[in-house]
Amino acid sequence: MSTQQDIRKHLTEYGKKVVEKGLAAGPGGNISAREGNYVYLSPSGFPLNEIREDEWVKIDLKTGKVYGNLRPTCETSMHLGIYMEREDIKSVIHTHPPVTIGLISAGVRFKPVFPDYVALLGREVPVVDYVQPGGEEIRKAVVEKIKGCNVVLLKNHGAVCIGETLKEAFARSWLVEETAKIIFVGMSVGNLKYLSLREIEEVENMEAEDYRKAILKKNGKEMGN
Ligand SMILES: [Zn+2]
Repeated sequence: MSTQQDIRKHLTEYGKKVVEKGLAAGPGGNISAREGNYVYLSPSGFPLNEIREDEWVKIDLKTGKVYGNLRPTCETSMHLGIYMEREDIKSVIHTHPPVTIGLISAGVRFKPVFPDYVALLGREVPVVDYVQPGGEEIRKAVVEKIKGCNVVLLKNHGAVCIGETLKEAFARSWLVEETAKIIFVGMSVGNLKYLSLREIEEVENMEAEDYRKAILKKNGKEMGN
């Protein structure tokens, strides 16, 4: 079990990584981690790379009680809804990745285009139509989809990725935008070929992928690597 201090430290590290990789600009995006009945969320209005360890907002998942003086992200309801729906996961990362937003808002569908996509994002990545951010509408739309997958794309808005660790949720978030770049480049220069069903199944059965996935699910010291 991670201590509260560990969680705060990892959240600060991953907040910086999200911005470093260009997945959120200004005060955009929000991230959280859960330990037991408590969820630690990014405070509202803060750029994700400028949040100190003591500024992550602690909330009791069952009662909704907010600790401290800072307000949690405006997407708190969506984060809590995801944790209630998916008891197996411990992290939620919501980003505003520019190439992804551009593609999905233009109606381009994400499909398995390289092995990492299959291994980390899965065969199907659902896309939801635009809904107003920061309330019950987005909570409902995302929670409905997240039941059966680990990534949901939001038209004209961004992406929501979940994981058993922050490391895993971050890997998915980064991979979503990398996929968007690959699709964009492939479509720009020619007739992009996606993986066939047989190729997808081959990746799903690779032992090496099971090993890589297990590493991403590991908590502990290596989380910050
Ligand atoms: Zn957002």
